[in-house]
Parts: sequence; C-alpha cells; structure tokens
Amino acid sequence: MTTTRGKHFIQSLKDGRSVWLNGEKIEDITTHPAFTGTLRTLEKLFNMLDEPGMREKIGFRSPKTGEYVHNAFLIPTAPEHLKQRKEAFKIWADATFGVMSRLSEFGRTLITSWHATSEMFRQYDERYPEKIRRFYEIARDEDRFVIQAFGNPQIDRSKDAAGTSDPDAHLRIVRETSEGIYIKGAKTVATGAPYAHDLIIAPNYRVKDTHPEYAHALIVPLNAQGIHIICRESYASTDIDEHPLSAQFDEMDAVIVFDNVFIPWDRVLLHGNPEAVWKFYNTLKSNALTFHQTVVRLVSKLEFITGLGIALAESIGVDSFLNVQEKLGELIVQVESIKGLLHASEIVTQKDQFGMLTPSPIPLQTARNLGMRYYPRAIEILQQIGAGGYTQTPSTTVENSGEIRAYLETYYRGAAVSASQKIKLFKVAWDIVGSPLGSRHELYERLYAGEASRMYALQYLASDKTALEKRLERFWTITEERRNEP
Ligand SMILES: Cc1cc2nc3c(=O)[nH]c(=O)nc-3n(C[C@H](O)[C@H](O)[C@H](O)COP(=O)(O)OP(=O)(O)OC[C@H]3O[C@@H](n4cnc5c(N)ncnc54)[C@H](O)[C@@H]3O)c2cc1C
Repeated sequence: MTTTRGKHFIQSLKDGRSVWLNGEKIEDITTHPAFTGTLRTLEKLFNMLDEPGMREKIGFRSPKTGEYVHNAFLIPTAPEHLKQRKEAFKIWADATFGVMSRLSEFGRTLITSWHATSEMFRQYDERYPEKIRRFYEIARDEDRFVIQAFGNPQIDRSKDAAGTSDPDAHLRIVRETSEGIYIKGAKTVATGAPYAHDLIIAPNYRVKDTHPEYAHALIVPLNAQGIHIICRESYASTDIDEHPLSAQFDEMDAVIVFDNVFIPWDRVLLHGNPEAVWKFYNTLKSNALTFHQTVVRLVSKLEFITGLGIALAESIGVDSFLNVQEKLGELIVQVESIKGLLHASEIVTQKDQFGMLTPSPIPLQTARNLGMRYYPRAIEILQQIGAGGYTQTPSTTVENSGEIRAYLETYYRGAAVSASQKIKLFKVAWDIVGSPLGSRHELYERLYAGEASRMYALQYLASDKTALEKRLERFWTITEERRNEP
C-alpha cells in the first residue's frame, strides 16, 4: 500500500509562503517544532484517502481523475450521500477527538455547495458558475486544504469601512486590471492558515453601496506574493507525555495581511456589488451543509470530554457520589441532545431548486448554538470533578521520575488505576481544561460560529414564530370560552 498523499500535502507547503511566528519569518514550516506535531496529524488524515478499506468510507472516486477524493466534495442529492458525508466527517473528527476543527472539510463543503447552487449568483456575474466549478474541481482533485476568514482586524468595531478614517482597516480592492484585482488590508481569524492552500474571503457585514471596493468574495492562494500569515503564540508542545493534545492538535490561528496582493479574475467570485456579496455571505451563514460538518465535530469533541470526565471520576473514586453522577449525567445529556439534533436534521431533509439535498438547518443551528454554551459548561464540569487534582500532577511521568518513583507510585495512585495511568489521565484533562491550548478551545467553541448573543438573536429572528404565537391565541380563545360557560 502506498500512502503518498500525506507526504505530498506536507511537500506542497514548501511553496514560498510567508509565515511569521515570534517576530521571525519561518522559512520552512514543515520542519518547525511549532507545526510538526500538527502536520504529522494532518499527514495521517490525508493518507487515509490512499488506504483500501478506509478510502471508501471517507471518499469517492473523482469523475475526472478516478482517484479517491474527500466526501466533503460529494454533492448530496440523496439521503445516502448525507450519510457518506457524515461518516467521513466523523472519522476525521474522531481522529483528533474533535479538537482540530479546521481539517479543511468546512471550506471544502462551502465550495461544494456554492458549486452545486452556482446558478443562484449568475444574475450578478455571468462567469460566476464557471469560476466556482473550476475551483471546485481543482480543490477536489488536487486535495486543496481550504479555510475561511471573514472578519476585519479588531481595530475599531464602532466603525465600518465607510466610517473609518483608515481606508486599509477593512480589506479593499485598490486596483483592477484586465488580469485581475489588487487587494490591501487584513483578514482574521484564519485558523489553519500556515498550512492551508486557499483562503475564502468575504466581508461579514453589509458593505455600504458608497464603498463597493470593500465588497468582494474571493478565494486566495495563501502563497500569493504580498500575503503575510501572522501567527499567534504557538501552543504546540514537543513533549507528548506532558501535553498530549498540544503535541498533536494545535491548529494555529493567524491574521492574514494583504499588501497589494494580486488576485486573478478566476479567483474573484464576486466583487464591487455590496448587495450580491452580502447575499453570498448570508448563504454561507445559513449553510446547512457546513452546519452539518460542524455539528458532527461537536459530537466528537463532547464525546471525548464526557469520556474524560467519567475516567477522571472513576480514577479517584468519586463516581459513586450523587453530585458527581449528576455532573456526569449532564455531560451525557449534552452528547445525546446534540446527537439527537444531528439525527433530526438528517430526517427532515430538503431539496433545493438545484437538486442538492441538505439536512434541515434548524436542528443544526440549534445544536451549534447549544454547543457555544455546552462546551464552557463541560470544561467547568471537568474542573469540578478533577478539582485540586490538576495541581497535584507531577511534572513527569512515573516512568521518567527516577529516584522519587516509589513516592509517585504510592501517593499519586488512584482508586482504581495505577499512578502511571492516573497521571497520564490528568495530563490529558489538564491539556483541555487549563493549558493555553485548552483556553483557546474554550474561546473557540464560544465564538467560532459568531458571537453567542448575535447567533441566538439570529435564530430568534430567522425562526417561524407563527405556530408559537398561535398557541397563545388558542389559550385566549379557550379561556374566553370557559368564561362564557354557564
Ligand atoms: C479561536 C478562534 C478561531 C476562529 N477561527 C475563525 C476562522 O477560522 N475563520 C473565521 O472567519 N473566523 C474565525 N473566528 C472568528 C469568530 O468568528 C469571531 O471571533 C466572532 O465572529 C466574533 O467576532 P470578533 O472576535 O471579531 O469579536 P468582535 O466583533 O470584535 O466583538 C468584541 C465584543 O464586542 C461586541 N460587539 C462587537 N460589535 C458589536 C455590535 N455591532 N453591537 C453590539 N456588540 C458588538 C461583541 O458582542 C463582543 O462582546 C475564530 C475565533 C476564535 C476565537
């Protein structure tokens, strides 16, 4: 069996990209310790598409090349396609225990659904359907790792592009030629950018008609001249015993600076039309296919957290206490309710006018909104169960503890596990509860889909409230009837 895809993916990142960390430009991210652990994880995921038995589960044969390509590119037209998509998402999500959220399936799913529904935007640009079809085929057949960034830098949120005195505070088109456009500004947050191939960009607000240069939907290659990928501090660890999650799954977040970057026309999906670009962004914000992927990942992560909670409780013999059982029960309620919503979304599917079958968005939107509040609570429960145990974990494994090994074996053992097992367990739990990576994850789950109050408000605004309002009308009717009864 030859598994070359992962290697090919790693090699493809030596493409002249400009990645900045700790004030230095990284010449080759594939050998840099801030990235090697995560890249090894991604390499294994890519290899799955070469493995007989596995590739059929996560992929399908490209009609163009005959090679296996990821199911995120499968256009669903029947319920079994949604199942195939889900299986692929779950296998990849489980491979990182839901900890890595940007494995490119979200971006790939966006491209797939835009391609499947491309006629929707022909009215704004005759070439749009052809552009998106071409990129879809390239992304599918060349294993492109696609991510997205919609925010502008957090400079002054009280002003939009029209209100700010700095024209570069929001990403804008500075020049147009017969070959393409030039853009200037920055975009954020771009999770996964140092090792992604392409970045999807659109403004996350309705640009005013007076400032069309800020309205654009683009797919930008991240090695383009003039792009700088500025990373946050790395949370990656090179010590897999001490930080088992950080050593494997630190997906980097970055701000992307565009210093007069040229974008050829075939990568400019829409531009100069605030209404069209706003509609485009909104199709993205209500995209049931991407919601489906994010909820599959959420299930995977909550399952992992719940398993951790149970193991922690058992390891220190607190699982028989009612208050702890209540907390473990709450974790199980979280998993089961999100799984239930995922299932519900697949039962009430809908076909759009282009023939694409999508899961029902409302249960998925509900699951995403619940996830923003579930996750911080799940972490709080892990804190409450492990309690002071997190600060009693030694800075070594039992096996490496040398002269003090006998003390560790005696005083760090658990109720039902050895000191070695208990220390390992608490180190994993701390990596998601209290490490820099863990803190970033809590922030991520609170915010990745948008800020919670806005997302809840959006669910309220978008919901069909008629049936709920009718309930009250019915109440007034029967109350009136009762009042008039003899
Ligand atoms: C770890 C992490 C990874 C992420 N990865 C990605 C990614 O890969 N791609 C991507 O596109 N996005 C990503 N995001 C960004 C995410 O979508 C945003 O964080 C989210 O939309 C909130 O925007 P903001 O962070 O810019 O907050 P801001 O908009 O700056 O908000 C700051 C505070 O001000 C309030 N506020 C701001 N504007 C208003 C207003 N007009 N009215 C009332 N209150 C307001 C907010 O409620 C909030 O409390 C990521 C975020 C995190 C934390």
